[in-house]
Amino acid sequence: MYDLIIVGGGPAALSCGMTARKRNLRCLVVAADAQTGWLYKAERLDNYPGMPKVSGKELLRVFRAQAQELGVEFMGGVARQIQPMGDSYMVLVGNDVLEARAVVLAMGAARPKLLPGEEELLGRGVSWCGTCDGMFYRGKRVAVLSAWHGGVEEALFLASLASHVDYYTMAPHTPPADERIELRGEKPLRLEAAEGRQIAVVTDGTTSDYDGVFVFRPAVAPDRMLPGLKLDGSFVEVDRAMRTSLPRVYACGDCAGQPLQVAKAVGEGNIAAISCAEDLAHA
Ligand SMILES: Cc1cc2nc3c(=O)[nH]c(=O)nc-3n(C[C@H](O)[C@H](O)[C@H](O)COP(=O)(O)OP(=O)(O)OC[C@H]3O[C@@H](n4cnc5c(N)ncnc54)[C@H](O)[C@@H]3O)c2cc1C
Repeated sequence: MYDLIIVGGGPAALSCGMTARKRNLRCLVVAADAQTGWLYKAERLDNYPGMPKVSGKELLRVFRAQAQELGVEFMGGVARQIQPMGDSYMVLVGNDVLEARAVVLAMGAARPKLLPGEEELLGRGVSWCGTCDGMFYRGKRVAVLSAWHGGVEEALFLASLASHVDYYTMAPHTPPADERIELRGEKPLRLEAAEGRQIAVVTDGTTSDYDGVFVFRPAVAPDRMLPGLKLDGSFVEVDRAMRTSLPRVYACGDCAGQPLQVAKAVGEGNIAAISCAEDLAHA
C-alpha cells in the first residue's frame, strides 16, 4: 500500500513526488512514456527559472533523476481506472492493481480524441481495458485498435483468450509479431453497432464485425478514469490547495487548468503534495 500514487510523468508529477518524499510519504509515479508528454516536445524553454535555454527533454531527465534520488518509485504504464475503496483508492495500471491512501492526477492537458461511436458503445462491446473485460471474449473474435505500443501487450493477452485478434494501428508504433494476431493495414474511421450485438470497425475501404473491440491510447480522460470527479470545462476542478471534488484526490499541472506552463506545473505539484501530507496526517 502506497501513501500516494501520482498519475503522470511530467513536471507536475515529478515535483509532487519530490515534495511527498520530503514529507516522508511512500509514493509511486505511474507514467506513460516520457515521449508522449508535452514537455518532451519542447525544443527550448526560456522561461523556466535557473535553467535558461534548456530543452524539454533535458529538463525532464534532470527532474526525474532528482525525484529518483529522493526515493520516488516509478512504474511505466497508463493508469486506466481509479476506484474508491473506503479509506483508499485502487489504481488499475495495465494488468496490475495498485492501492494507495491518496491519488494525485498530473496527466497533462492532452485529451484523447475518440472515434465516432466509441463513447456510445463503451461497455456494450467496446472496451479500453483488456484486463477488465478480456474474459468476456474467451473464444470470440476481437479487434484491437491501438495508438501506441502499449496496445501490443494487451493484444498478446487478448490472443491468449480470444479465437481471433485483428490489430489496427491508429498511430505509428511497432505492431505485435505473433501468428495468433492478424495485422490490419486500414485506418479505423468509426465504430458502429452491428447485427447480433456485434461491433463494426469501419475503415475507408472495409467494414469488419467483431464480438468485442478494444481501444488503447496513452491517455484517458480524467472523469472517465475516476467517475464522479468534477471538471471545470475540460480541466479537473481544484481549489487553491489542489484538492479536487473527491477526498484525498488532488490534481496539478496542465490537467488542473491554465496557464499551461512548466513553472506553474512544478508549483502546483509541490502544493498538492503538501495538502496530501496534511490530509493523511489527520486521516
Ligand atoms: C512544443 C511545446 C513547447 C512548450 N514550451 C514551453 C515553454 O517554453 N515554457 C513553458 O513553461 N511551458 C512550455 N510548454 C508547456 C509545458 O510543456 C507544459 O505546461 C508542462 O509540460 C505541463 O506539465 P504537466 O506535468 O502538467 O503535464 P505533461 O508534461 O503533459 O505530462 C503529463 C504526463 O502524464 C502522462 N500521462 C497522461 N495520462 C496518463 C495516464 N492515464 N497514466 C499514466 N501517465 C499518463 C503523459 O504521457 C505525460 O508524460 C510547451 C509545450 C509544448 C507542447
